[in-house]
Amino acid sequence: MAWTRYGLGALRRVPWLLLCAAALTPALACDGAGHIRLRQPVPLSAQEKAEFAALPPLRVLAADAPPMVSYDPDIKTHTGIGVDVWCFIARELGLRYTILAEQGLSVADKLRQVQQGQADAFMPLSPTPERAQLGLFTSPYYESYYAIITHKGRPLPVRSLADLAPYRVGMVKGVALVPQVQAIVTPSRLRLFDQASSDGLFQAVRQGLVDAAVYSQDIFEEKRYRREYFDLEIAHTLRDDPRAYGFYFNPSEPHRRIVAAFDRYLAALDISASINAHANGEQQFIERYVSQRRQRAMLNTAIAAAAVLVLGLSLAFLRYRRMALLLAASNRQILQQQQALQSANQELERLCLTDGLTGLANRRAFDQALQREHLRQQRTGAALSLLLLDVDYFKNVNDHYGHSTGDDYLRAIAQVLKKTLQRSTDLAARHGGEEFTCLLPETGAQQALLLAERIREACMRLSLPNARAGQRSLTVSIGVATAQTGSASAEQLLDAADAQLFAAKRAGRNRVQACVLSVSGLALNVAASSARAAPDPCT
Ligand code: GH3
Ligand code: MG
Ligand code: MG
Repeated sequence: MAWTRYGLGALRRVPWLLLCAAALTPALACDGAGHIRLRQPVPLSAQEKAEFAALPPLRVLAADAPPMVSYDPDIKTHTGIGVDVWCFIARELGLRYTILAEQGLSVADKLRQVQQGQADAFMPLSPTPERAQLGLFTSPYYESYYAIITHKGRPLPVRSLADLAPYRVGMVKGVALVPQVQAIVTPSRLRLFDQASSDGLFQAVRQGLVDAAVYSQDIFEEKRYRREYFDLEIAHTLRDDPRAYGFYFNPSEPHRRIVAAFDRYLAALDISASINAHANGEQQFIERYVSQRRQRAMLNTAIAAAAVLVLGLSLAFLRYRRMALLLAASNRQILQQQQALQSANQELERLCLTDGLTGLANRRAFDQALQREHLRQQRTGAALSLLLLDVDYFKNVNDHYGHSTGDDYLRAIAQVLKKTLQRSTDLAARHGGEEFTCLLPETGAQQALLLAERIREACMRLSLPNARAGQRSLTVSIGVATAQTGSASAEQLLDAADAQLFAAKRAGRNRVQACVLSVSGLALNVAASSARAAPDPCT
């Protein structure tokens, strides 16, 4: 039967397959000839042997008709009972042969080629009178049967062809049994299907378009498993109408002698082992079907496992991505909060060091700057000057114009300080109340005095009214102290500036008093109007 079509059978014949593949022409699987036994010796004369050996190779055509001959197009190989028998007898007779390539020819075409001498032999073939007229048949070596095939759900009580008379019957066009069926089933009930689409025939049975199919039992059994027609069954095997299969030869004289020799052998052959190997296909179909189902189940399991794995990985990936996004979002949030905190801290620090009324540095910022600049002065030895400014008669401003106007005056003085101090290292601060300080790093006594004068004059130029003051407008007094080297402490510098301020007040206000620390010698009180003189040493 067709078992070598499938992987396992093909694998058993690996060496042969390699040879076959190398040749790339169709071949017979002749190792099956081992299934054939001779029940008795067959006489063969030396003359016959010599004649057969001298013949050119026979050109053999084969048809796909299991279990006699099955063709596997993948490996271009014919197997079957007919192949076993042919190989055995041809070897015994010493005949050489080649298998002609399949060219998509129909059985009728192939027969015509044999009958017209384009080929020498054809297998397998069942005899009919027409075929016998144009060719030579050997004795038959195998009988196969037609069967009545029905749907399991619609069983028919049929035990012979005659029982088919009341039913709708389907058949493949051109098969040998058609005339007998036509004699029983009326044309309106007989439906003929193309050979190429025997599947259409079985579908018609399944769909109830016909009640029964008449078809080769062997081929149906194979199709049943290959196409999973498990809803169909063999209702009856037509053993009264067997088809006998033999070999068919072109009608030439040498072929007549070959056919005679074949017949002597066919009469003596025991082919039961070959029939067992090829014709008891049902079991093999079941095994193959079960193994295919198992493979399919394993494949499905593998696919399901892979799908679960992919799903798991996808979920894990999605989860990971979601976590990563959350983490990134939370990192962004933390960063934003850090930045906000940093800004808030900076603002807090700024507020901490800024005077709310004037926007100048406050006392705390001034103290820090004084300490810092004093330390630097100790390292560099550069001069450091300090101005201490107090508004004259400011109480009177508040009393006369109101506290709010007093605030405005303070802001105006702050603007004067900002404008007058131009170095980035200079610092103007509100010391408290209506007192201001200016810290002037790397500024000598002369320069500091000059700056203090400018400030005093600029404040006067503001011409802010102060009705109760001597001048009738706002003036300031400024004490200036300069440390030429780092020998004096920061407190000493501040005290010295304070002392100079007190002196300026005592001297009549609206003036600058300056002194130099750690320079011995001259004492100088500088009046506002004569501020160009050099300052005295501080006492
Ligand atoms: P002197 O010339 O001797 O300095 O006379 P004075 O009136 O300025 O005397 P003093 O320095 O003792 O007076 C300071 C006044 O400054 C007292 C207080 O009411 C006022 N003052 C202090 N801080 C502020 C402030 O923030 N705003 C206003 N409007 N006035 C303030
Ligand atoms: Mg004061
Ligand atoms: Mg004052």
